[in-house]
Amino acid sequence: MTISTFDHDVLVVGAGLSGLRVAIELSEKFDVAIVTKVHPLRSHSVSAQGGINASLGEDDSWEAHAFDTVKGSDYLADQDVVEILAKEAPRAVIENECWGTAFSRTDDGKIAQRPFGGAAFPRTCYAADRTGHNLLHTTFEQTLRKGIKFYNEWYVTSLVKSKNRICGLTALEIATGEVHGFTAKAVVLATGGFGRVYGHSTNALINTGDGCALALRVGAPLKDMEFVQFHPTCLFGSSILITEGARGEGGYLVNANGERFMDKYAPEKMELAPRDIVARAIRTEVLEGRGFENEYVHLDLRHLRKEKILERLPGIREICINFAGVDPIDEPIPVQPAQHYSMGGVHTDCFGVTPVKGLFAVGETSCMSVHGANRLGGNSLLETLVFGRIVGKKAGEYTESVEQPDSSYVGQQTFEMRERLQKLLLHEGGNSPVDIRETMGQTMDVLVGVYRKSDALEAALKMIRELKKRFENVSVGRSDEKFNYALVRTLELENMLELAEVITMGALMRRESRGAHWRLDYPERDDTNFLKHSLFTKVEDYIRTELIDVNLGKFEVKERTY
Ligand SMILES: Cc1cc2nc3c(=O)[nH]c(=O)nc-3n(C[C@H](O)[C@H](O)[C@H](O)COP(=O)(O)OP(=O)(O)OC[C@H]3O[C@@H](n4cnc5c(N)ncnc54)[C@H](O)[C@@H]3O)c2cc1C
Repeated sequence: MTISTFDHDVLVVGAGLSGLRVAIELSEKFDVAIVTKVHPLRSHSVSAQGGINASLGEDDSWEAHAFDTVKGSDYLADQDVVEILAKEAPRAVIENECWGTAFSRTDDGKIAQRPFGGAAFPRTCYAADRTGHNLLHTTFEQTLRKGIKFYNEWYVTSLVKSKNRICGLTALEIATGEVHGFTAKAVVLATGGFGRVYGHSTNALINTGDGCALALRVGAPLKDMEFVQFHPTCLFGSSILITEGARGEGGYLVNANGERFMDKYAPEKMELAPRDIVARAIRTEVLEGRGFENEYVHLDLRHLRKEKILERLPGIREICINFAGVDPIDEPIPVQPAQHYSMGGVHTDCFGVTPVKGLFAVGETSCMSVHGANRLGGNSLLETLVFGRIVGKKAGEYTESVEQPDSSYVGQQTFEMRERLQKLLLHEGGNSPVDIRETMGQTMDVLVGVYRKSDALEAALKMIRELKKRFENVSVGRSDEKFNYALVRTLELENMLELAEVITMGALMRRESRGAHWRLDYPERDDTNFLKHSLFTKVEDYIRTELIDVNLGKFEVKERTY
């Protein structure tokens, strides 16, 4: 049996900001190709609203940025990685500006910066409330200029490893239903977050954590998976994000008694405390009976007045009108917390190197760890650009040092993947992937959410394992080969179930409260036992869990108050 494969030096999986930035770095010297399950401009990076952090202000400094990030992380971030992020931030922003991103301006023509949660200075550069849209389009233009090869709407189904080294991948061409093999010296995972493991999420439907599941299956560990960010202000009903920029511009959070309740939780920072604190405050207000309809609170922008809302938050106004029938110029916005960001991901060092030779990870899919237990707003877009460049360089060095692998392993695995998908498509009368997905989302929302406790987590783990069993007898429901999105959704579900289990295992294991992970039965931070990263490795059929040291540095571990 011979199956021809596509050959490249390096493959990048994902065409969000991090994947594009990696590919740009590699394109000077190497034959690099990007494989992406949606058109690059539909990657979730496009929907980033509020902005990107860089210490451009006269009184600001990289040290202040680094300190805010480490404190925001509840001291779990690796301080050496944070230092790189903060030092490289101005360069990343200016580079993108030079490429053409139209940042909003101050009256004297400088890049405008707004205050964001947990930051000591207005440090968040923005393009109105469509920052990700601007950055992604600009960066995409650069990939076109460089002539980088794209495989658009190809779904990566597995990584190929032989002799302890990654040598390629298999991918489903969605338009034709064909499975193809790719041979390469290195693979960079840039597949974004896994928000859709939860039912209520601000993430795009495509954010299913494929990269984490692919990595886990070839023996690369995942790290800190229990740290899931819940954004405090998501539109009630649809969970569409209302950017932190709305509070950065001066918005108030108000409960059903008309009180600006943040003074109880973060008297100094008020609405601009970090997200974990504001999300818990809103949940507490609602649980204690001070919410509207026992569900949500109000985000009030009316005092900002029409002109400012139209200039700085035009996209938010549109979202509120279209999806909630509320015009924030005249009425407060109903908001509640929902899943937003994955702090955990594929375990790497600060160069994106995983423990599996030839495999790299970057962006939201990786865990370097720069966000620790809680990410600050504006640091994630920054991470994609800063580390996209660095990981691209490192993957290039590795590529130069190794031979092109033998494509026969890729051919063999491609053949097996074809057989597997054929079988899956033809299997009738089994369980519905839609039902399994809905139950998974509800389980994670209710039992592994903002507030956690052991009996709920145990119930969640039992349910997820039961769903994994049900998945063994799943029927896609459609057997046609061309554009079979039901098949893609089913493969994504398989990945998400794997991650739901790991997240819940991590949440159960971590018997403390730190950052976004809050245990009602262990409400204190426990630095003696848990100032550690959690690591999850698949060993045959079970997940091995261990704790590893955090890279501490000049910022002393302290109590975290705002
Ligand atoms: C609504 C919203 C607003 C946000 N606002 C901000 C903000 O203002 N500031 C900030 O700093 N951060 C923000 N974030 C977070 C930030 O946008 C993301 O963390 C970041 O853009 C992720 O970029 P990425 O390149 O890692 O992944 P993404 O942009 O998510 O791209 C993932 C890519 O992987 C590809 N992919 C995935 N699986 C497969 C597969 N199996 N096969 C092939 N391709 C695959 C997809 O096609 C896609 O191209 C926001 C997030 C959301 C959801």
